[in-house]
Amino acid sequence: MKMNNKLGCHVSMSAPNYLLGSLNEAVSFGANCFMIYTGSPQSFRKPPIDKLNIASFRTALKKSGININDVVVHCPYIMNLANNDPTKRSFSMKVLEDEVSRCMKIGCKYLVLHPGNNISPETGCKLISFAINQINRKNKNVVICLETMAGKGVEIGCNFKHLSQIINDVENKDLIGVCMDTCHLNDSGTNIIDVDRVLNEFDQKVGLEYLKVLHINDSLNCIGSRKDRHANIGKGTIGLNVLRKWVNHPLLKTLPKILETPYVNGHPIYDKEIKILLE
Ligand code: FE
Ligand code: FE
Ligand code: ZN
Repeated sequence: MKMNNKLGCHVSMSAPNYLLGSLNEAVSFGANCFMIYTGSPQSFRKPPIDKLNIASFRTALKKSGININDVVVHCPYIMNLANNDPTKRSFSMKVLEDEVSRCMKIGCKYLVLHPGNNISPETGCKLISFAINQINRKNKNVVICLETMAGKGVEIGCNFKHLSQIINDVENKDLIGVCMDTCHLNDSGTNIIDVDRVLNEFDQKVGLEYLKVLHINDSLNCIGSRKDRHANIGKGTIGLNVLRKWVNHPLLKTLPKILETPYVNGHPIYDKEIKILLE
């Protein structure tokens, strides 16, 4: 594998090996970066932090040659920091606060977040930046990365304007970033064939310095479908050639790029996908 490029995948984290198991899984796919959920993605249940084997994980990680900054964490995706209901919103804030604290304990730098949902993007963006400012009072060094969303329902973050509005109102600019998802960009209506054009637009509207992580996925649906259904690499509407351009773009080489593609016959095919993307 070309070690001057960072390409990996989402891996599981489960009993009894937890983080150590995640690392082994990533290495078995030939990944040199990876992403985990520190609990169940669709619920707020999570194993206690002292069960995760942090110390032995850090030792094994060092041996593997993978940088701790390239171990990305993803928040549970059922939270909503832009909820109009204050009780539900503060519950989501508690969850984010806990995720940040878990990242600090593990040593992970990048925490990917689905910004939230609100019928009014203006209100939604304000609520999200307010929540992040609040959480950042106890956040030392975890960069919260807003994911570009497909635009399902009333998702915030389905265009660069939303992201720039949120980032503008976040006080500590060192603790905020963006995670671009190629499937979501496509589904939200962005033509991603020309990588430079997309990065230029992002640089103008948001700032390239905020781009920290990428999710590399093909899409089952066409541009602007607002669907968010991932496809295996080369099996969707984006195609292998375009995704290869993203993976091998000089400006993106140093950033962790994570596959979140579907399993085939009950098994991930990340090893094959990593290989063909780097060819
Ligand atoms: Fe996501
Ligand atoms: Fe994603
Ligand atoms: Zn998705």
